[in-house]
Amino acid sequence: MSQQQYAFFRVIQSYLERASRAAELPDDVTVMLSQPKTELIVHFPVRMDSGHLHMFTGYRIQHNNLLGPYKGGIRYHPDVNLDEVKALAALMTWKCSLMDIPFGGAKGAVRCDPRTLSESERMRLTRRFTHALVGSIGPDHDIPAPDVGTGPQEMAWLLDTYMNAVDAKQKNAQHAVVTGKPISCGGSQGRVKATGQGAVHCIAEWARDHGVDLQQGRAIVQGYGNVGAHASMILDAMGTKVVAVSDHTGSIRNDRGLDTQLLMQHVRRTGAIAGFEPAEPISRDEFFSTRADFCVPAALENQIGEHEAKLLDVKVVAEGANGPVSPAGEAILEQRGIDLIPDVLANAGGVTVSYYEWLQNRRMERWTLQEVDSKLETMMVRAYHKVRDFSRERRVPMRVAAYGIALRSLADCYAARGVFP
Ligand code: NAD
Repeated sequence: MSQQQYAFFRVIQSYLERASRAAELPDDVTVMLSQPKTELIVHFPVRMDSGHLHMFTGYRIQHNNLLGPYKGGIRYHPDVNLDEVKALAALMTWKCSLMDIPFGGAKGAVRCDPRTLSESERMRLTRRFTHALVGSIGPDHDIPAPDVGTGPQEMAWLLDTYMNAVDAKQKNAQHAVVTGKPISCGGSQGRVKATGQGAVHCIAEWARDHGVDLQQGRAIVQGYGNVGAHASMILDAMGTKVVAVSDHTGSIRNDRGLDTQLLMQHVRRTGAIAGFEPAEPISRDEFFSTRADFCVPAALENQIGEHEAKLLDVKVVAEGANGPVSPAGEAILEQRGIDLIPDVLANAGGVTVSYYEWLQNRRMERWTLQEVDSKLETMMVRAYHKVRDFSRERRVPMRVAAYGIALRSLADCYAARGVFP
């Protein structure tokens, strides 16, 4: 099924409905959470290097801000659409609530192919998109971050554009308007690897529970961008062999374990995993059939459907990406006894360290990597145990458990505050 046909928001709504029943949520709360609060669509011109103007479409969806300011990344991808951004924004609400981080949920995107844009085109696009968002974001209101196709450089351009759009005397109070910035502009130690690191903390907890030795482990990883590459390198450093990797250009395998650091350098140099050695090129089906203990899908949504779930030869899937396993794929995994650590937990390390970055900016502090790493580990392990215990007690899958915990906190807050007016 193509990305366009995949009704991602409907899928997220179906998870909400199922988990609402498991957590015995009042109907009113489920209804309120079933739609985003704000949907912003902007069309804006960018001068291309050729001298021509090109119109781009951008989105910012603010799903919910009950627990704190809206929070969520900005994606640059040629296939993004409103449905997808709504789904991703809702996932952020559940994720922050589950992690007990005082943020709500949002997501942004620009429909573009960043691989075909020059650096100066990406800069003009980012600045112009930020300009369109200036009245809708802010350190206490809505805080963007990186996602697919964006990284620290885009966040630096976003920060600079925002700072220059506000009153000059307020300029230096604005650093917290965006997270995932370069460290030189107020970013946090440990943010770049945080999402991959958080996924590995979940895998390590799962392995401890199931008597699997990480040092003897094997992993397959889909996507070798921010999340996939860091998850791979951290697993590798812990002794788990990363035996197969795939990205938008294909799949590669090395049964003795890929050199994940060299692969990262190769991707930085060439933009993709294709051509990396020593490794053999394999088909997509061969990638998914590779025998391993752990599978980390860290690319896009809807990558593990029925077909791929039948091929998988692993013990657990840790969703590094948002929504990589479709409901049909998840049903097959369940039948086959393959565990699933859901996205709202497995990739929550990113927003957790984004929260630390925001706190450092607000307090004018700088934390060491050790401080960030140790706080992140505590938060991830605590969240993993909460989800695992809920799942065991209520005999529900871990996705339902994660949603159940997240929704309960939101429902408690609605119950205490009431609904205006
Ligand atoms: P990225 O742009 O850095 O990397 C994306 C990777 O996916 C690339 O290696 C790309 O080649 C690969 N890819 C794209 N299409 C593919 C396809 N059809 N088949 C196989 N591989 C494909 O993005 P990222 O920041 O690593 O994000 C990956 C996923 O993780 C997304 O779902 C994102 O929402 C989620 N996520 C990211 C963060 C973060 O901090 N960056 C935090 C939480 C969740």
